[in-house]
Amino acid sequence: MTNCYVCGNHYDKCFEVIIMGSHYQFDCFECAIQALAPTCEHCNCRIIGHGVEEKGRYFCCVHCAKAEGIKDLKDRG
Ligand SMILES: [Zn+2]
Ligand SMILES: [Zn+2]
Repeated sequence: MTNCYVCGNHYDKCFEVIIMGSHYQFDCFECAIQALAPTCEHCNCRIIGHGVEEKGRYFCCVHCAKAEGIKDLKDRG
């Protein structure tokens, strides 16, 4: 029996996510996204797809990256 890292829910089908050697338990993907997904610097939405990364800055899409002055990017997905 494990507890969700985000909401603390007891659930026997929690799944584990390992990122950079840290282990997290979640009861659902919504909680996992809330805890782990990066946030777009421009529109503040959660980046659930591939997104765009440039020098440690994260954006949900090329449009947002361009809006923040980053050029020469292509969507990866
Ligand atoms: Zn949860
Ligand atoms: Zn965005």
